[in-house]
Amino acid sequence: MRFILICVLILLVFSFVVYVMKAIARLSNHLRGAIKDVKEIREQKGGRPVASAEMAPCAQCGAFISARDAVTVSSRGGSRVFCSSDCARAHIAR
Ligand SMILES: [Zn+2]
Repeated sequence: MRFILICVLILLVFSFVVYVMKAIARLSNHLRGAIKDVKEIREQKGGRPVASAEMAPCAQCGAFISARDAVTVSSRGGSRVFCSSDCARAHIAR
C-alpha cells in the first residue's frame, strides 16, 4: 500500500516538474520575442536620426533631398543645399 502511494507521489511530482518546465519554456519564448521587439524598435529609432541627418531641405523650394543627390553651392553665407541645379540657379538669380 505504501509503495503504491510513493509511486503516485513520484508521478505527481514528476508531472508537476514537467508542467513547470513547460511554463518556463513558454515564458522564455515570450521573453525572447519581447527582447527581439525591443531590439527592432531600438534599431528603427537609432536608424531615423541617421536618415534625417542625411536629409537636407532645398534652400529654394524646401523639398527634402538626401545629401547624396543634393546640389551644394558655397557662398559667403556658407554652403546651401538645393534639390536640383535649377533650384540653385533660381536661388542665385533671386
Ligand atoms: Zn528645390
